[in-house]
Amino acid sequence: MSTAHEIHLARRPHGFPDAADFTLVERELPEPGPGEAVVVNRAFSVDPYMRGRMNDVPSYVPPFRLNEAMDGRSVGEVAAVGPDVSEVAVGDLVLANLAWRDRGISKAEHLQRVPDVAGVDPRAYLGVLGAPGLTAWVGLLDKASFRPGDAVFVSGAAGAVGSLVGQIAKAKGASRVVGSAGSAEKVAWLTGELGYDAAFNYKDGPVRDQLQKAMPDGLDVYFDNVGADHLEAAIAVANDHARVAACGAIAHYNDTADAPTPGPSNLFQIVKKRLAIQGFIVTDSLDRFAPFLEEVTPWVADGRVRFAETVVDGVDHAVEAFQGLLRGENTGKMLVQVGG
Ligand code: NDP
Repeated sequence: MSTAHEIHLARRPHGFPDAADFTLVERELPEPGPGEAVVVNRAFSVDPYMRGRMNDVPSYVPPFRLNEAMDGRSVGEVAAVGPDVSEVAVGDLVLANLAWRDRGISKAEHLQRVPDVAGVDPRAYLGVLGAPGLTAWVGLLDKASFRPGDAVFVSGAAGAVGSLVGQIAKAKGASRVVGSAGSAEKVAWLTGELGYDAAFNYKDGPVRDQLQKAMPDGLDVYFDNVGADHLEAAIAVANDHARVAACGAIAHYNDTADAPTPGPSNLFQIVKKRLAIQGFIVTDSLDRFAPFLEEVTPWVADGRVRFAETVVDGVDHAVEAFQGLLRGENTGKMLVQVGG
């Protein structure tokens, strides 16, 4: 027996999630049964898509259930295994679906050993080499059909996904890469360290005006993490036949039925400019994980690709980490560290 601390969803948030929507629960874990393993977390991911799972609506991933630990990607160490476990052994560092808790029980067949690569911290597999990284790579290359010479605009550019999109585009020969983010520090990071050609703070003025100024010759690819005013601006600035990877719409995630954030008002431009807008969900492209890791792991290991993490300490602060993510308090990947 061991004691786990878990964050449960106590009620479904209305608008921006409130601390009272969650409870911290302590419970005794049973011994692992046949085919099961106990994993002690080192870190777990909080992600924007989790906000959607807090609503009781049909989607591409089922809603979180009330009064149960929520899940999501985590990295931790196998502490015990039950009978008939051959996939992992005690002491292995593994990726699991045990977010929002400090330890938990998983079917051993659902665990993956963390690749042991010199120069790569295991936590990278929750961010730049995990689902966010794959999202950037698949979205840009497969969904937006990026070609060398393209001028690329990325919104949410200083986040886990966005910070990689611009670097891949530059590495593959983009003519110009522009990002938007929500603070002067993030803008400075994009141009100073990540190699973005230009960036702007979307809070400084209308996105359309700032984008037009940053991309006077238009854009060929827009990687959309935000929706709303950003999508409208990108449509306005797009060149004929531009492609849009519709990855996320975080400006809308806390919308309520009575106060929706306005969407683009210029959709007819999609017709006139013959734009291609491709929505996608990364879990449909898991067959691309191997080639993604093959290409991007060396870039991460030798520092050609830069990435950042914002780390919040302790499962008891996980809700604050999640709220902070939605408020833009993270640069790069937002993570919760467990156990110091
Ligand atoms: P991020 O690390 O980018 O964190 C979210 C960021 O969104 C915040 O840091 C904040 O940065 C920004 N933000 C919050 N509210 C607004 C707003 N109203 N307008 C503009 N920006 C805002 O998260 P991820 O990299 O994990 O995810 C980025 C996007 O990609 C999300 O939309 C997510 O849902 C989507 N996604 C989609 C996947 C798919 O399969 N389609 C898979 C993974 C992610 P700032 O300070 O700049 O405001």
